[in-house]
Amino acid sequence: MTQFADLGLAKPLLKALAEKGYKEPTPIQAQAIPVVLQGKDLLGIAQTGTGKTAAFALPILQRLAEDRKPAPRRGFRCLVLSPTRELATQIAENFKAYAVHMGLSVHTIYGGVKYGPQMKALAGGIDVLVATPGRLMDHMAEKSAVVSGTEIFVLDEADQMLDLGFVVPIRKIASQLTKNRQNLFFSATMPSEIGKLAGELLKDPVQVSVAPQATTVERIDQRVLFIEAQRKRPLLAELFADNSFSRTIVFTRTKRGADRVAKYLNAAGVEAASIHGDKTQGQRERALAAFKAGEMRALVATDIAARGIDVNDVSHVINYELPNVPEAYVHRIGRTARKGKDGIAISFCADDERNLLKDIQKATRQQIPSFDRRNDKQLAAAAAVADKLVPAEKYVDPRKADPRNDVPSELRRKRNRNGNRNGGQGGGGGRSEGGQKAQGKGPQRQGRGQGQGQKAGGPRNEFRGPKRDAAPAEKRWSPID
Ligand code: AMP
Repeated sequence: MTQFADLGLAKPLLKALAEKGYKEPTPIQAQAIPVVLQGKDLLGIAQTGTGKTAAFALPILQRLAEDRKPAPRRGFRCLVLSPTRELATQIAENFKAYAVHMGLSVHTIYGGVKYGPQMKALAGGIDVLVATPGRLMDHMAEKSAVVSGTEIFVLDEADQMLDLGFVVPIRKIASQLTKNRQNLFFSATMPSEIGKLAGELLKDPVQVSVAPQATTVERIDQRVLFIEAQRKRPLLAELFADNSFSRTIVFTRTKRGADRVAKYLNAAGVEAASIHGDKTQGQRERALAAFKAGEMRALVATDIAARGIDVNDVSHVINYELPNVPEAYVHRIGRTARKGKDGIAISFCADDERNLLKDIQKATRQQIPSFDRRNDKQLAAAAAVADKLVPAEKYVDPRKADPRNDVPSELRRKRNRNGNRNGGQGGGGGRSEGGQKAQGKGPQRQGRGQGQGQKAGGPRNEFRGPKRDAAPAEKRWSPID
């Protein structure tokens, strides 16, 4: 088995790794570290959870330390672009932990917080800057950041950058970088547009890839519960009555949906908070910290807010609403069963979500065991009580609503200025964070999917509670949730 020392890493890094308790490199680290140490460009196909952050952070720190020089004023020797604030923070935390014996500076820059401290940090120059594209562009426009001296450029989660509409800002930033730089490019998937971007940015890259999805997904006990949309809330409360749901991430499609589910759970006595792009940085950090510390059983999140978040020991993932794209399903359920542990993923599926389920099963090449909880009298009674706790509101199908992205406010501002709202149709209700992909697929998904879902749903048993007889007649999905 390869050891970190075999990869050519220097003593201060080996010491930091030992202190972190890492015993051996993960496959992406074993493949990527020697390549990056040689100064070559890298195309890494890997998702969060594979150890990809250390795969680039360790060799970058070593290269910077081997050729120590002052960082350029208002500039940085290494620039890491990350799609979200949470991921940027996590990447920077990793860099800091690995650099603890090296005396290299690491900073983050993202939207939603004041400019002043960021300008101050930039002024003197930084060894490693981790930034979201929108805020970095703002600093570049203000001349408080100058990217031309960057020696190593890392683009992380490139496919998510595409979802968030960051490809144009990335091209703009990259156009101002010196040609004589090292490029590292990471993406979980390689849609054609990302392949094109990689082709533009990278020079003779070495490609490394790890495919953890299948193995991760295999370890997850997945179930689908068929349920009327208006009964999802009592079903959620029923699940949380079981204390084994100790650290559970509940996914909704919209920010407003996340707030409402969190509010309902709190009213039902389950500590919960929502996390999404409309929350302040402080609120997001506090919610995440409480969840990580085990002070809160439920974190209700939208896809974009949750992606890349690294929380250990997530007991369950609940898809309160199915995502619009199968990839998001894999990302969501991958929040559990991390680091070799097992996990449970439960997906609620209302009648009009059957087509989404079908797509997910097709894409993941599996039949997810399904259980029919429709027409459950106990849940009907519980639904009446639930409505008293937090009144049900008029439900607006998020796929018909304005699909503005969870992009940092600075970019949203810019898009609005340019009159580009990513094709939103208005509609007032929940705001989808699904991005371009969801938007593209949405209109095709308005059908009720009758019949198909039953076929796709696999064996129809009861999940908890007594066995029901024949499957009830299909009902039209109620617009009330
Ligand atoms: P990442 O894919 O970079 O988000 O990493 C996922 C998690 O694995 C993080 O919590 C890392 O701290 C952890 N990790 C990364 N490399 C190793 C390793 N070689 N051994 C043990 N844990 C690791």
